[in-house]
Amino acid sequence: MKIAGSSEVMNHYQEAASVLPGAIHHATTQCPFCSVQCKAEVTIESREDVSKSTTRVFQYVTESKGTLNKASEGRICVKGMNAHQHTTSARRITSPLIKKDGELTEATWEEAIQYIAGKIQSLPSNAVGVYGGGSLTNETAYMLGKFARIGIGTKYIDYNGRFCMSAAASAGAKVFGMDRGLTFPLSDIEDAKCIILAGTNIAECQPTLMPYFTRAQEKGAVIIVIDPRRTSTAAMADLHLAVRPGMDMLLADGMLKWLREQGLLDEAFIANRTNGYEQLTAYLDKLDWKYITDNTGVSEENLKLAADMFGKAKTGMVLTARGVEQQTDGHLAVRHFINLLLATGGSADKAAGTERSQDKGMVREAESMVKRLISSLDIAPLRMSRTVITSLLCGALNLMKFLEREYLLTK
Ligand code: SF4
Repeated sequence: MKIAGSSEVMNHYQEAASVLPGAIHHATTQCPFCSVQCKAEVTIESREDVSKSTTRVFQYVTESKGTLNKASEGRICVKGMNAHQHTTSARRITSPLIKKDGELTEATWEEAIQYIAGKIQSLPSNAVGVYGGGSLTNETAYMLGKFARIGIGTKYIDYNGRFCMSAAASAGAKVFGMDRGLTFPLSDIEDAKCIILAGTNIAECQPTLMPYFTRAQEKGAVIIVIDPRRTSTAAMADLHLAVRPGMDMLLADGMLKWLREQGLLDEAFIANRTNGYEQLTAYLDKLDWKYITDNTGVSEENLKLAADMFGKAKTGMVLTARGVEQQTDGHLAVRHFINLLLATGGSADKAAGTERSQDKGMVREAESMVKRLISSLDIAPLRMSRTVITSLLCGALNLMKFLEREYLLTK
């Protein structure tokens, strides 16, 4: 597929006199935007800048297409097709900006480092907090941790990977004794007969996974989407429960209450493999239907219909994402959805599973992130990214040296 307006992604930083006009280079890379990590092949063409009557040569990304990998089956979405713009856009900011008189003004790296160091120096160590983003590479995230703990000496460091899905990870660890994220291969999806997608908008956040779900539907699966919004994913569902924001846990409890009343639970599995069931049933008994429907905003009829669909299906899956996990008590919300699985899907002929569908790359704590290695940046269109990262690392090292000079470094 041709990329529209490729002239806009002219890479000013790839200027190289040694590259001949007309040279075409292919590079294999992968999209960093979500957990599918689709593989892509980009085509970069070197062109002469004829508009300015010079002999300079620029590189343009002229094509980006998906290549085969197991998760995406060769698909790539529009985000992946345009991911290269992070490094090739002419609008990319390439120098520090310091606010002066209310205006962001270009500064040198040295000025920026001096400025930041001065601010840090003026504060006690633990008055400084450090927060890393999901786009950091493994190495940069590691460096950030060292910079915060050793360089600054603060105990306040957090990271997108923890905030992003810690509720789901801790829920999995609490219930199963371990955190495994995806508990089944993607290829199992099309064999599920009832799929609950709770707080996840896969059609827009992980579009290349959608064929797994449409194939399941074609094979007779029922898809239930739990989401306050009428998303693209909700539009393809067989049943959409537009739950009130923050009430997903109560909705799961209502479904479980109905399944129990209908005798659709796997009593043998519950007795042999779970604990706490008595406390759970005591809690469910206290919930009345008016309270559930008033608070969830879902009609009793639809809630019971969803529970019946899930309880009677021979195989089932529940997939949760940030919509459930990033609530006031996302940890408990996830656990209550897992309760649905444990109470109905424990028997051998019902291959239930959970998955935490992610709208970002698979990231964990800063120092154990396993994907997006700098080595994956070793391709032509991403050279700038590596240069910038190297600059940032050098900047952090310089800042540490500066702090050491000023006797701020924690021994
Ligand atoms: S599905 Fe995710 S990894 Fe694949 S191209 Fe789209 S955003 Fe990138």
